[in-house]
Amino acid sequence: MATIQDRLRIPWNGGAKQIAFDAVLPVFTIPAMLLLASISLWWTIFTFSTVVIFLALISRFFIKNIPHTKFFFVWTLTSLIILYFIFEFVVIPFLEILLEENIALSVLIFGFVMSVYLMKKRSKELSSIAESQRDCKEGDRIESCNICQTKLPSRDHHCLWFDCCIGNHNRCLFISALFFATSALSYSSNLTLTSVCHPFTLYRTILLPDDCSDVYKLFELGLSFVSAVYSLAVAAILLLLFLRELILVSLGITAKEWKKLPLTSKLCLGIFTNRPHSKGFCQNWAEIMCWSGRHSYEQFNQEV
Ligand SMILES: [Zn+2]
Repeated sequence: MATIQDRLRIPWNGGAKQIAFDAVLPVFTIPAMLLLASISLWWTIFTFSTVVIFLALISRFFIKNIPHTKFFFVWTLTSLIILYFIFEFVVIPFLEILLEENIALSVLIFGFVMSVYLMKKRSKELSSIAESQRDCKEGDRIESCNICQTKLPSRDHHCLWFDCCIGNHNRCLFISALFFATSALSYSSNLTLTSVCHPFTLYRTILLPDDCSDVYKLFELGLSFVSAVYSLAVAAILLLLFLRELILVSLGITAKEWKKLPLTSKLCLGIFTNRPHSKGFCQNWAEIMCWSGRHSYEQFNQEV
């Protein structure tokens, strides 16, 4: 692994720049997955199943051996770029998408990109303050992150796919990123499927795909179809995460605390569980919605 890493270099101003092997893996894996999947239905099933198994195995390996890996974040970025590229340059030329629909999708993508950018920016700002407070003690939800190698107040978890710690300081942006990503993926998927498949109208307003049996006859149709299936699968996972975040914030508990709850409490959505950090539904939401940088930094300095 070290030899491969050492040999992977790209020409750069002032000398070749070394790039991590794990970070470039998604750049080849995602296009290969979509190209193979667009051959036929069986290739779609085979490729997507293989990628799920590959991700499950490789993520364990990376988390254990390369905890600072950028693999997951590059996967998110590459997926976003490739799916947008396919939509703009393969689906749009079918001339089935209206300009307003394209603008609406671009707005959702812009919302997602801005949410992720601000989420990471806030995390970096808070981490740099924590850097100067290295002697701070853990407790009262001040937790250290092995990946970011920092201590943060009210830390919830480290999101590998966005490559940053999630806590009260950026949870609102995390939820908004999940919302925009879910909306953009499901909307683009619907637009693509109704362009490449035979559509029908539900309640005379909503256009849904009906018959997709001809999509593998033309490469462009097949590629558009599998990109829509991939978008829909990711959107379904993100929707579950989005709903989980809504429940956790409403309850005032972290993901770690949720995991420790017994099954019976989880089935009751944690409503009857003892929640020492919860300040009530409205206050819990107010805390993450009205997070003010300066105030929280001062509070953080006082806490530590
Ligand atoms: Zn972290």
